[in-house]
Amino acid sequence: MGVKDPLLIDKAPQLAAGQTSRSTALVRTHYSTEVLTRMALLSYRFFKDFRRELPGRTAGYVETGLLVGADEASVGPLLQNSAMHKSLGIDSRVMKPDELAASGIEPMLDANAFSLFAYEPNAGYAEPSTTASSFASAAVALGAKVLKGARAHKIERAPSSSAGGYSVVTTEGSVLCKNVVLATGVWSRPLFAAMNVDLPMRVSRHPVAIFGRPSSYLGTRPVVFDFPRSAYYKPEGSELLFVGSLAHELDASGPDADPDAYDEGVTYEETIDFSRSVAAALPAMGAAGTYRQGYAGLYDNTPDLHPVIDELSGHGYPGIYCVVGLSGHGFKLAPEFGRIISSLVTQGRFADYDVSVFGLRRFEEGRLLEGRYGVSTIL
Ligand SMILES: Cc1cc2nc3c(=O)[nH]c(=O)nc-3n(C[C@H](O)[C@H](O)[C@H](O)COP(=O)(O)OP(=O)(O)OC[C@H]3O[C@@H](n4cnc5c(N)ncnc54)[C@H](O)[C@@H]3O)c2cc1C
Repeated sequence: MGVKDPLLIDKAPQLAAGQTSRSTALVRTHYSTEVLTRMALLSYRFFKDFRRELPGRTAGYVETGLLVGADEASVGPLLQNSAMHKSLGIDSRVMKPDELAASGIEPMLDANAFSLFAYEPNAGYAEPSTTASSFASAAVALGAKVLKGARAHKIERAPSSSAGGYSVVTTEGSVLCKNVVLATGVWSRPLFAAMNVDLPMRVSRHPVAIFGRPSSYLGTRPVVFDFPRSAYYKPEGSELLFVGSLAHELDASGPDADPDAYDEGVTYEETIDFSRSVAAALPAMGAAGTYRQGYAGLYDNTPDLHPVIDELSGHGYPGIYCVVGLSGHGFKLAPEFGRIISSLVTQGRFADYDVSVFGLRRFEEGRLLEGRYGVSTIL
């Protein structure tokens, strides 16, 4: 790969213990911007061919299909997005409610509770902790080392006599290195602050309620994005349904959560809200779905809910790279994040498409990326 002695440092005693372990891990290509769609498509192909890409390893990928159900306001953007997806070679089918009802794709869904659908048959979900472990073990097999249980406090310029450009100061001692990649998720801010780099990122709580499905609604089923009720429904395995929010306000505003001390459960009000949404969209769930449990994870939100992928050279730190602010949709893009960062580190550039749009300076320069849907900007 052209990198000498790569080392993965994680503060946790085991890998994939961060937000990745809480992810619903949907893998879809339905995005509003061409660059994210392209990244999602290439990443999807990686998930689909995971065993060939990383022989002997799995991401636990399950192909379910995705129904993006629009409200009236989202019909125009949905048509534009679907046309853009098709132009990139994605199988995206626009369907009216009666067409969906007649198709048998998801008979449990009340199609008339929506204005229009985009159906993406190739979407699905992966097993997030397994995916992260597979990537890590493949890296170790190629010579990478892993240092667990070491929290990095700051990154200092190394003494000029040493081989490395930087010293990563951790609770387990300092590590000298030429390059550093910060992929520190919701814990990123203190590290950036210690370098005097402004990272405009907020941390918000993202609750997920888990329901048991009735006997009429078992098995592998399409995931549903429900714009009228700002919710998503992910049939997991054969019996469960994970329900979360697509509400923009929930992700972009509200109080900042402390990643080391926040409410990791789901409140009664949140459960009631989710129950109402799911009952309106999937009536069988209202009649016979059963609440099982809930949990809350965290999103690392940037002001435009798009990731920051950059080298911090413009901030005085050449050789320090970051992939942070993934804003609640970073799991599916991980294969492309890896390809981009390894190219930036080893070749100083990434030539396949323009990733400069993800630069950190875009916030102060007012070059924010925009989704087409008002209801949710992570699409
Ligand atoms: C409930 C929920 C549902 C989601 N659903 C989806 C989805 O359907 N599809 C999708 O694409 N995305 C989804 N996401 C988002 C996705 O899961 C995240 O964007 C992604 O997993 C983040 O990966 P990460 O590696 O950046 O962060 P993390 O998985 O949190 O990893 C960061 C790691 O850095 C370590 N670390 C942090 N700071 C330090 C430090 N100072 N020193 C040493 N180690 C440190 C942590 O211990 C951790 O292991 C969801 C997120 C949540 C919470």
